[in-house]
Amino acid sequence: VLRVEHVRKTYGRHRVVLRDVTLEVPQHTVTALIGASGSGKSTLLRCANLLEEIDDGAIHLDGEEITDPRADADAVRRRIGVVFQSYNLFPHMTVLQNITLAPRRVLGVGRAQAEERARALLDRLGLADKAHEYPDRLSGGQQQRVAIVRALAVRPRLLLLDEITAALDPELVGEVLTVVRGLKDEGMTMVLATHEMAFARTVADQVCFLDDGVVREQGSPEQLFGDPREDRTRRFLRRIT
Ligand code: ATP
Ligand code: MG
Repeated sequence: VLRVEHVRKTYGRHRVVLRDVTLEVPQHTVTALIGASGSGKSTLLRCANLLEEIDDGAIHLDGEEITDPRADADAVRRRIGVVFQSYNLFPHMTVLQNITLAPRRVLGVGRAQAEERARALLDRLGLADKAHEYPDRLSGGQQQRVAIVRALAVRPRLLLLDEITAALDPELVGEVLTVVRGLKDEGMTMVLATHEMAFARTVADQVCFLDDGVVREQGSPEQLFGDPREDRTRRFLRRIT
């Protein structure tokens, strides 16, 4: 689904974040991005969603080069759902309003239909009774699940998840991870940046270790965590566990 080819991204003149990143995310698979803080995981996700412009290389979605300057950025973003560490829900809107906003505004779906879909998703994620609550009345885990529902509401081809459990209390992490696992079982293609190696290990089909602006090592969770080939991967894993 997603193909990242020789992507280079710098901030300012000297800060090279992504030097030469290449990776492929096949349909119905989950890719975990791991790497030290500042290694460029969020930057890569932001480039894939066209929130950042790349300096060189190309990103393809379903065979279309989305980083082509002529590509329709809004159309691309409609096909990619994003969930960030901070849930970014609109505080003055109810859960239902938060979720139906994009389908109605961006996709032009009618209100009844948008609400029906939203309720079905809320139901699936165990939030059926929260439709008319405001975000500040929900726990962090519930808010994060609403943010996931909101991303799913436009039926994206691909879901990008950036540290979606990082801001949560440990006891709330589980419910969000369960949701991600459920989406995986339904065949959703996902790329997630995470510091939670245990999670990457159980949910990911492939793990990419970002280091010094490149994908230093890439492999199945068993291989990468159990028997890393690269010295730098080994050192990184030793440092964090
Ligand atoms: P973390 O694990 O802490 O989330 P990360 O791997 O997601 O880190 P990024 O957020 O992608 O790392 O940041 C990579 C580098 O780019 C960092 O050194 C950061 O300071 C720098 N950076 C990120 N955004 C900007 C920006 N808008 N302007 C300048 N530098 C930035
Ligand atoms: Mg980050």
